[in-house]
Amino acid sequence: MCKKCVKAEYPKRGAQTYEVSAYMANYFKCASCEKRVPLPILKRDIHIHTTKDNEDEEITFKHKCPSCNHVICEHFFSSTYYDDKHVDTYLMECMLCGRGRKEVPRCVEESSDWIEGASIGAKEEEPKKPPPTRAPIGIDAMNSTAASMGAALRSAAMHQSATRRKAEAEAGDSSDSDWE
Ligand SMILES: [Zn+2]
Ligand SMILES: [Zn+2]
Ligand SMILES: [Zn+2]
Repeated sequence: MCKKCVKAEYPKRGAQTYEVSAYMANYFKCASCEKRVPLPILKRDIHIHTTKDNEDEEITFKHKCPSCNHVICEHFFSSTYYDDKHVDTYLMECMLCGRGRKEVPRCVEESSDWIEGASIGAKEEEPKKPPPTRAPIGIDAMNSTAASMGAALRSAAMHQSATRRKAEAEAGDSSDSDWE
């Protein structure tokens, strides 16, 4: 840990939690080589620990100056699921990025049978398809729509079906009637 590289140690970040990122606004400059360049994070430097059937996760990596490899500090991020409260809690702790904490409630619909049944009932209320347009107004609308699609579409369709018939004739396929 090196306090000289940052403007403020462990700034309060509210609900900001970074899994893998660097809070550049708090980066002063590298105390070792005096350069101030973006801090890339290499994949091979990221350590991920998962526990409890992959429910919980801890990520750690070191912020390093890319010019001289000076280690600024270690970044810590964790995501923890609390069964009793049905919330995911995200924590960030890093001298550069600061401290942050966020709670995100989980949807409980996947957890038990009776809730599943209830959600099916709710889904049935939503119309899955638009109602069929069989009223006279609907037919007029369809006709005018077909007309306005123009000759371009019609000729394209004719060309397509002609090509199809030709291909089928060549292949000796007797299913022509399907297209009539
Ligand atoms: Zn430093
Ligand atoms: Zn440096
Ligand atoms: Zn950090």
